[in-house]
This record gives sequence, C-alpha cells and structure tokens, in this order.
Amino acid sequence: MPTRPPIHRPAGARRATLQKQAMYARTPERQQRQSMYDHAWRVYSRRRLDANPYCVRCARLGRLRLAVVTDHIKPHRGDAELFRNTENHQSLCKRCHDRKTRLEDGGFGAHAPRSSSRHGPTRDG
Ligand SMILES: [Zn+2]
Repeated sequence: MPTRPPIHRPAGARRATLQKQAMYARTPERQQRQSMYDHAWRVYSRRRLDANPYCVRCARLGRLRLAVVTDHIKPHRGDAELFRNTENHQSLCKRCHDRKTRLEDGGFGAHAPRSSSRHGPTRDG
C-alpha cells in the first residue's frame, strides 16, 4: 500500500495557521459591521464621491487624486449613528484609505496599534 510522503511543517506553523484563521473568522461583530455596507450605503457613497471627487488627505498635501472610498473619519466600529453621520464622512483615495485603515484598525493582517499610539501622528497628517 502506498504511503504519503511526510510533509515538513516548521515549528509553530500549526499555531500560526490557527491565529490566522481566528483573525479572519466571521465573528458576529464582523458580520454585523459588514452588513452596514448595504445597498443604501453604496448608493449614498457613490453620490457623495460624485459630489466630492478628490481625496481630502492628498489635497492637504497639494496632490490631486481621485477618491474611491467614502471613509469614516472616526472609525464607527459598528456604531450605527457614527456610521450614518454625514459629518463623519470624507472622500479618500485607495492609498490614503488603506494606510488609514491599517493604522487605525489593524486591517490587512496588521495588528492594531496600542491605544497610546492610535492617535499619534501619521506620515500625511
Ligand atoms: Zn489620497
């Protein structure tokens, strides 16, 4: 009977896999937050971007770049009031939004910074 060749797994690989799975798990909180980005939001966001087409962060640096994201200035973290508050919205280009998200939410696999540095200076203000 043929046997499967052994698979080499470096020490700690199993734990790293479990940590990664936990990070991307569809928790109820994550699902609830995701469901906020519904059709009404997408329509609103599209119209807002049509009216405010340039990235506000880039504009502060004297750059003219088209915005593609309606960003929440203060992260809403599932708070419906903060999510819908138009005073809390700004137009950002993808680059600025990705950077902001990574710094504030620890998105894209990055760990969220400790609260002491969360409101620290960023490269583009
Ligand atoms: Zn930008």
